[in-house]
Amino acid sequence: MEAPREIRAPHSLDVLAPEPVTTCAGCGVCCREVSVPPYLDEIDFIPVALQREVYEARKIEAELIAQSRPCIWWEPATGKCGHHEDRPNICREYEIGGELCLETRARFAVGKKD
Ligand code: SF4
Ligand code: SF4
Repeated sequence: MEAPREIRAPHSLDVLAPEPVTTCAGCGVCCREVSVPPYLDEIDFIPVALQREVYEARKIEAELIAQSRPCIWWEPATGKCGHHEDRPNICREYEIGGELCLETRARFAVGKKD
C-alpha cells in the first residue's frame, strides 16, 4: 500500500520571522546553499575573468558540495557577495524578506534567540 503523503500545513510569514527582514546583514545563508554561482545563459554577459572563475569552480563542484562549501564568491567576513554587480539573475530575484528568504533563514536558525 502506498504510504500517505505528508501534508504540510500552510505557514504564515509571521511564523517564519516575527519582525520584517529588510537587510542581509549578519545572514548570507542563501549564498551557503550553492557552491558555484548559479548562472544560466546570462553568464555570457559578465566579465570573462569572472566567467573563467565560474567554469573552473564547476569542474570541482561535486567536491565543493561534498565539503559543504558556500558559494565561491560569498565573503564570510561581510556575509556579502564579492561580485554583487555581476551576480546571477536568480540571486537578483531572491527577494530580501520574501518567502524563500524567510524559509532559508528559518532553516539556518538566523536571528533565533537561544
Ligand atoms: S536569506 Fe534573505 S536575508 Fe539572508 S542573505 Fe539571503 S536574501 Fe539576504
Ligand atoms: S549572490 Fe553572489 S555569493 Fe551569493 S550565491 Fe549569488 S553569486 Fe554566490
